[in-house]
Amino acid sequence: MIKRDFRKFCVIISGPSGCGKTTLCRKIAEKNREFFYSVSCTTRKPREDESNGRDYYFISREEFEEMVKQNKMLEYARVYEDYYGTPMDPVIKSLQEGKVVIMDIDFQGMRKVKKKMEDSVAIYILPPSIEELKKRIEKRKDSKENAFKRFREALKEMDFWTAYDYVIINKEIDKAVHEIETIINAEKLKRERMIIEREEE
Ligand code: 5GP
Repeated sequence: MIKRDFRKFCVIISGPSGCGKTTLCRKIAEKNREFFYSVSCTTRKPREDESNGRDYYFISREEFEEMVKQNKMLEYARVYEDYYGTPMDPVIKSLQEGKVVIMDIDFQGMRKVKKKMEDSVAIYILPPSIEELKKRIEKRKDSKENAFKRFREALKEMDFWTAYDYVIINKEIDKAVHEIETIINAEKLKRERMIIEREEE
């Protein structure tokens, strides 16, 4: 009998603020135990509806710098005024446990992860329209000033889609989830990831 397995990999999800990428990542990770959602560290203050350990690990600038110094970040970047980083240990542990790791990080982070883990898959999420993006950003529990800044940044950020392996338009959440799952399923079947074993019959 021929048995098939695949080398586990990271799925990087990026997109402009308000494109719905965090919801997509969570939905996929919650639906399937095979996935691990990487929770990032940030020095930014939590928003009203966010909690520590679920949305981010909210840490001080000193703690963040210490983690960087000790080489505990797989990647990190400055986004807006704050630092964001992917803690290394949970990612390595999950890959070793046979999980596919999903991370919601920006373009800078994607480039760094791809350099370290070349077999990672990068997916860019676009909103259905600019109007919808604006609406979603304004709906967030954030100050008006921040919302405006984020919208301006989001428009600039959208140019990065060309650097990704796949692009999804998040018009209907269930459809977008399905499309991402389809990508991951196809990626699992790539010859380069394939581990074939033959068992005596
Ligand atoms: P927000 O403050 O809206 O939660 O996130 C701002 C931006 O930071 C988003 O584009 C998000 O993808 C990015 N981000 C979140 N975590 C990380 C991370 O660990 N590393 C990098 N490079 N970017 C991150």
